[in-house]
Parts: sequence; C-alpha cells; structure tokens
Amino acid sequence: MTTRAELEQLDREDPLAPFRERFFLPDGVVYLDGNSLGALPREAAARVEKAVREEWGNGLIRSWDDAGWMELPARVGAKIGRLVGAEPGSVVCADSTSVNLFKVLAVALGHRADRKTILTEPGNFPTDLYVAEGLAKLVGKGHRLRLEPAERIVRAIDPDTAVVLLTQVDYRSGARHDLGEVTRAAHEKGALVVWDLSHSAGAFEVDLAAAGADFAVGCGYKYLCGGPGAPAYVYVAPRHQRTFSQPLAGWLGHVAPFAFESAYRPAPGVGRYVAGTPPVLSMTALEAAVELLLEAGMAAVREKSVRMTSLFVELAEERLAGNGLVLASPRDPERRGSQVSLSHPRAGELVRALGGRGVLGDFRPPDLLRFGFAPVYNRYVELWDAVEALGAVLAGLS
Ligand SMILES: *Cc1c(COP(=O)(O)O)cnc(C)c1O
Repeated sequence: MTTRAELEQLDREDPLAPFRERFFLPDGVVYLDGNSLGALPREAAARVEKAVREEWGNGLIRSWDDAGWMELPARVGAKIGRLVGAEPGSVVCADSTSVNLFKVLAVALGHRADRKTILTEPGNFPTDLYVAEGLAKLVGKGHRLRLEPAERIVRAIDPDTAVVLLTQVDYRSGARHDLGEVTRAAHEKGALVVWDLSHSAGAFEVDLAAAGADFAVGCGYKYLCGGPGAPAYVYVAPRHQRTFSQPLAGWLGHVAPFAFESAYRPAPGVGRYVAGTPPVLSMTALEAAVELLLEAGMAAVREKSVRMTSLFVELAEERLAGNGLVLASPRDPERRGSQVSLSHPRAGELVRALGGRGVLGDFRPPDLLRFGFAPVYNRYVELWDAVEALGAVLAGLS
C-alpha cells in the first residue's frame, strides 16, 4: 500500500517540483483538469502585462516590428515544433485547431485526389469529425467519412483511403495511438495521415520527424498552458510544404504581405498556413508557457506522468474498491496519454461533488470521470488527496 508520506517523499525527490511555484494555482484546489485548460504560468501573466502596457500602450503600431509581433506565428511555431519533434521551419502558430484542421485536411485531400475516403474513429473529438464532414461537402467530389474503432483503423486503410485523420490520444479514455506505427501503415497503402496532437503536445515526447508524419495540428490551451482560447499550431512535413497552398489563403500567408499585391502568391514554406493577423496577446502568453515546458523537458515530464497516472490507478483500485468504479483507460502506461478515466454510472454527480471539495476533474458523458495530470505543476501528494476526496463523495452518494 502506498501511503501519503511516501507521496510526499516523491515530491521532495521530484526534479520537476520547482516548476510548481512558477504557476499560479489557487489554495485549496487540486487541479486535475489541465487537459481541458492548463494552469496559468506566472511568466505568461507577466509577459502579457508587458505586452499590453509597453508594447501596445507605448509602442503602438511600431511594436509590429520593434516588439517582434510580426514574427510571433513563426517564432512560437518553432518553439512548439521543438516540443513535438518537428523539422525546423515546419510549424506555425495560428488560428484554432478546428481551422488548422480544415487547412491541412484540404491540402491532404488535394495530394490524394483519386481517393475518396477519410478514415477516422467514431470517438474522435467532435470538431475533427465535423470539420472533415463540412470540408467533404464543400469540396463536392464525393468524399466520405469512414468511421472505424481505434483497434480496427490500421486494417481499415485501403486503396481508397486518402487520409487517416486521428487524434493521437483519445480525449475520453486517454488511449494513445502509436504515431510511427499508424503513419507507416498508412504510407504503405499510399494514404496520408493528419494527426491531432491536442492531448499529446506538452504531455509527452512526440517525434513527428522520426515518425515520418505528414500533417499535424493541436491545441494551445491544454497541456501547453497557453491560456483560454490560446492559438493553435499546424505542422506540415517539409516534403508537403510547397505542393499546394491551403484554401484559407490570407494576406499574412502571402510571400510579400506588405507589397499589397492583388494576386495571391503563397509564402514558400509553412508560413503559407498563416491566414491573417496573429492574436498578439494570446500568442505572447502561449510563448511563455511553451518556453517553460521546453525548460522542463518532455522526457522528465513523461517520466513523471507515467508515474503519476500509474500511482493514481493503483491508489484508486486499492482505496476505492467495491464502489462501482471501473478503469476506463489502458492499464499499460505505454498505451495511454497523461490522463486517467474512470467510469461510474453516476459520474456527473461525482465530478460535481468533487468540485465542491476543490478537486477539479471533468465529466465526459455518459459515465466518465476524467483526470488529467500535468507533471509541471501537479504534485504526487495531490493524487492521494484526490482519491481521498473521491472516496468521500462515493460514500456520500444516496
Ligand atoms: C481540444 C481539442 C480541439 C479544440 O479545437 P478548437 O478549434 O481549438 O476549439 C480539437 N481537437 C481535439 C482532439 C481536442 O482535444
């Protein structure tokens, strides 16, 4: 049996422990919802304050150059690229995940014009499914979505598969696809893969270049801690960057925006995936957060994440046995991301009651309690406190 004292000892020995102080977290809260909205890095708040007062307030229009606002999409993109193992110059920060998905999916379909199937999972995140459906309709060439459960995806790739569209880590169960394996299987059948890394980046090591990935997108406000509505990112493998321009051709993806030409000429690289003006304040916050994650290092983050999720499963099973909770995430840490989901018929009530005790996780219908672990700010002892609170709310069910 693991004890609370043992978890306190793990915190004392934890090389990532000093990062906790670099986040603002309210007293009395155990925050296990960083996979919906990452906590606030103090440095992000400080940089936004500076960007507002000095850069915007005093610098005014001059700050586009003087404060480097113009370079934000490429600069922040490059930093995110280092977190996900992208080749230099293959990531930009822009727009939302949904919008970026639209861009890369459109280009990917263009690359495989003779094929009509977009292969994905029924449990993929809804926006991914909706964007694919909407794009297929817009293109009007008879593309269709084929939905297969995760374990059947690889076998379902066939000569009509244009694109395999997958979120690497399932937002409900936390189950994780092997990026390299699926990409290889798709390429063997002549298909391309679009990866959604929303629950991957900042949670563990991703190596897009080594996997031979084609396209990827992901979210800035979950494990990346970029703040509510933070801009997203888009990765395009160097070999795919020049072939097509993406459909949201906007002036800031033009090769020379300030020439104000009437005709669109795309920027030579991934820069063409920028459409319009960057949200400077949001991107400033995201940049500070990503720098902090780079400093922590993804190997250390993953090591602690595996330990945390495994300990959480162990504690929940030891201390909450017989309460009707069932592990809904893979037991093998290699097969899951940085979250643990438990199912219970009254999950919604339980999550609400946990919130009343300061333990913030979330409810995913119909029956999941979902807990995300962010090794840069979560402490081992919080695992104990969360399980303790869950025991108390289970006991209080009437
Ligand atoms: C959170 C999330 C998104 C978010 O999309 P937005 O356009 O930023 O709202 C998209 N896909 C997945 C898999 C997500 O988890």
